[in-house]
Amino acid sequence: MSIYKKNIIFIILIFLSVLIVFFWQNYFVKNQKSQIVYFDVGQGDSAMIDTGNNIQILIDGGEGNIILEKLGKHISLLDREIELVIMTHPDKDHIGGLIEVLKYYQVELILETGIICETAICRKWDKLIEEKNIPVKYAEFGQRIVIDDIEINILYPFESLQNIKVKNDNESSIILKVNLENELYLFTGDAGFKVENELIDKSIYLKTDILKISHHGSKNATSNEFLRLVNPKKAVISVGKNSYGHPTNELLNRLKNMNIDFFRTDEVGDLIFN
Ligand SMILES: [Zn+2]
Repeated sequence: MSIYKKNIIFIILIFLSVLIVFFWQNYFVKNQKSQIVYFDVGQGDSAMIDTGNNIQILIDGGEGNIILEKLGKHISLLDREIELVIMTHPDKDHIGGLIEVLKYYQVELILETGIICETAICRKWDKLIEEKNIPVKYAEFGQRIVIDDIEINILYPFESLQNIKVKNDNESSIILKVNLENELYLFTGDAGFKVENELIDKSIYLKTDILKISHHGSKNATSNEFLRLVNPKKAVISVGKNSYGHPTNELLNRLKNMNIDFFRTDEVGDLIFN
């Protein structure tokens, strides 16, 4: 073989190697650090805990299929599994996107309250769980779920709500605390003052580093007393364009008065803590 041919082959090999590394980095290896991402899903909630070991836990999925695009940015193409999906309550801005997630990913376990829900979206949810044979666990206080180095503690509901009809979906939201590398993250779904007061009355330990503000910044959630006990270093408001006035001035003022740094997904997009 001539020197010229050898050089051409050498250059092609170098080029192919660069191409393989590029695709590997961009499509197959997305994240190798543990992190929590609060997705900007418009008006709704969705957050993902990622161990960096191809293990993901998804809490709510916003509405519609924007969640698939968000997950695609963070989960490797080769990883089709989500180890745990937590559905805090069945309002469409929380469960809607999870329907798409159940269709496109293999979900290993679902945690939900099991409250009676007869909406079309809940029927779709139940049907997919049955078709895909996904194990379901019903949340109640005291449960502790450990996956890889993530620990999740369930603070609410105090007792299982499986097959119970509730008056207000928001006040049935699963409240949970995540411990990721000794940083505590509190998720409150859309729970309001009623549930907050129950937690306060029962002297549940609420202190947390990062608080996801309840109900997209509603004025009827995240009371001064609740904020004082949670005493977060930072807060995240998951919110998009809406007609409810979220986040409300009442809530924003409570955060400002307590000097709590907060971030809004409608202003900063996806938020990553690692
Ligand atoms: Zn909501």
